[in-house]
Amino acid sequence: MSQLKITLLMSTLAVAVTAMAGNPLLETYKTPHQTIPFNEIKTEHYLPAYEVAMKQHAQNVDAIIDNPEAATFENTIVALEHSGALLTKVSSPFYNLLSSETTDELQEIAEKISPLLTEHTNSINLNVKLFARVKAVYLQKDKLKLTPEQQMLLKDTYEGFAKSGANLSDADKAVYRELTKELSLLTLQYGQNVLKETNKFNLLITNKALLTGLPDDFLQVLASNAKKAGKEGWLLNLKATCYVPFMKYAENRDLRRELYLANTTKCMTGGEYDNVENVRKIANTRLKIANLLDYKSYADYELVDRMAENKANVYNLLDKLLKAYKPEAEKEYQAVQDYATKNGAYFIVHPWDWSYYSEKLKDEKYAVNDEMLKPYFELENVKKGVFGLATHLYGIHFTKNAKIQVYNPEVQAYDVTDEHGKFLAVLYTDFHPREGKRAGAWMNDFKAQSIIGTTDSRPQITVVMNFTRPTDTKPALLTYDELKTFLHEFGHSLHGMLTKCTYESLSGTNVYRDFVELPSQIMENWASEKEFLDGFAKHYQTGEKIPADLIQKIKATENFNTAYSCLRQLSFCYLDMGWHTLEKPFEGDVIGFEKQQMASTQVLPMVPNTGMSPTFSHIFSGGYAAGYYSYKWAEVLDADAFSVFSANGIFDKKTANSFRQNILTKGGTEHPMILYKRFRGQEPTIDAILKRDGIVQPAN
Ligand SMILES: [Zn+2]
Repeated sequence: MSQLKITLLMSTLAVAVTAMAGNPLLETYKTPHQTIPFNEIKTEHYLPAYEVAMKQHAQNVDAIIDNPEAATFENTIVALEHSGALLTKVSSPFYNLLSSETTDELQEIAEKISPLLTEHTNSINLNVKLFARVKAVYLQKDKLKLTPEQQMLLKDTYEGFAKSGANLSDADKAVYRELTKELSLLTLQYGQNVLKETNKFNLLITNKALLTGLPDDFLQVLASNAKKAGKEGWLLNLKATCYVPFMKYAENRDLRRELYLANTTKCMTGGEYDNVENVRKIANTRLKIANLLDYKSYADYELVDRMAENKANVYNLLDKLLKAYKPEAEKEYQAVQDYATKNGAYFIVHPWDWSYYSEKLKDEKYAVNDEMLKPYFELENVKKGVFGLATHLYGIHFTKNAKIQVYNPEVQAYDVTDEHGKFLAVLYTDFHPREGKRAGAWMNDFKAQSIIGTTDSRPQITVVMNFTRPTDTKPALLTYDELKTFLHEFGHSLHGMLTKCTYESLSGTNVYRDFVELPSQIMENWASEKEFLDGFAKHYQTGEKIPADLIQKIKATENFNTAYSCLRQLSFCYLDMGWHTLEKPFEGDVIGFEKQQMASTQVLPMVPNTGMSPTFSHIFSGGYAAGYYSYKWAEVLDADAFSVFSANGIFDKKTANSFRQNILTKGGTEHPMILYKRFRGQEPTIDAILKRDGIVQPAN
């Protein structure tokens, strides 16, 4: 702590002059709802503001440690919760802009600030005196008469420290630090290997006849790939943007097979980017960390703060889904095989054939595509529909507020008010791609909700998308997937806007990872509801309502080969759990172990000497270790929760109110299963997802 304080003090002196000279980040905002004064904040304000903010945070923490009184919930846990408010205030515009309006200068600052922040955070998380006070409060937890929310804050605070080794002896702490360092190097190297091996593969095609079946715009992409590489022809690679459409449309079976094999043998054939040994090392290092912290396996360690709670519950769900979906997936496979045979394919459908024949069969059965739907999803209409849905369900209203400053002229800011006209939140919307905005779609907050003293300090939320922008002649028309993306992120934003919690670290979307996608995914269910679409989905030229048979087709295509997709997801979940439930160091054959873990989920013929573990970045270099199941977990939840709306009416106010009061307002203030059961009256079952996916439940 002291060393950090000195460094900060010294560097702060140098910037003190700039910092004090009217740095808007360090002043109370005098804007509407104290929104961020984007017009006044300049890039050069961030670094000095960060230094002041970190110093203030360190002082806040010191004050907690130096308090001569015995540690209490208020003087330690709540004080810690409130420490660093200025740091949050400075970070929030900075990191939001880094994603949605980045510049070279911002990125430079990020590079400078990131190691400082890590050091700053470590100095707090590893502070022995601070942890001693936290632990003292935690040990009295049963005597303290805390509310459920206070109990949760105490538990989260304590576990945050404990899970990062605060309870260990000095010698074990050193081991812990060594192991986490090793792990972060291994995962970094793993990720880089996947990237490099993926980028290494290029296949130049000079005979266009080999590319029959590929759509024209895709051929153009391949041609421009070649040109960029200084070549003539069409250049194939293994990036998803090339691999996925190629496998779907390319008629040439040999090429499909070649690409498939290249993709599924990445990082496992002994080259310089081989990851096989890294897989073993990562799994074993994680096991060591878990053991050091007194957990039997890494999954046990990770699942402590999840709705699923333990590996038995995870496996229970996976096994149930497997049993229900497998017979249907086998039928789907047979249908694709029959279709292929009927169309002259005298061979067994292999993984490199699956996507191609599935796509053809889907076309034959449903004949529906994006271009047919887009005219009905004009952005302005969709916005009315989506906002209107929140008005229907929760009585909230959206009023554009031009006085709120925005970071780009395309961004719009809304005052959101509740059913009594009371101010609820600020919502920013940012719809189109720009240079400086990263890909994808997300929701975030500029300010989270909390209760300070007796004041409910309302949140400021942003939803950011990358929808095709309007042209001179055409308004912005969304695809069906984009409509769902909008509903999804808007669902997250409702979680952020409707929240009513005391502590910021528990409010809004600050919930366990396998619960956070419930409020977002549930909204996607409305996308194919006729009653909802009828309200806004009108042809942008003729004003004609979206035809009922088109809605039917959307629903049908959504269920096409859904059992196969589910099994594929399950195979990844089992593989993830397999690696992370190990209770002994793994020295065996990585690919052999993988095939064993995934065997029960396989419908297509297994291809020897191919593997997933060496390129499964989600779990070996991303944050999804023992967490891949969350995708399925959340789907089960959203289907189960939406079934209540289906039964009572998709605009039913009573159901909506219950969802709002029990889930959306509560953030992470109680265990998600408790919150969920209050809404649902029981634990979730897989019945609703089976029904939605058109799966007949097997007899027991
Ligand atoms: Zn989401």
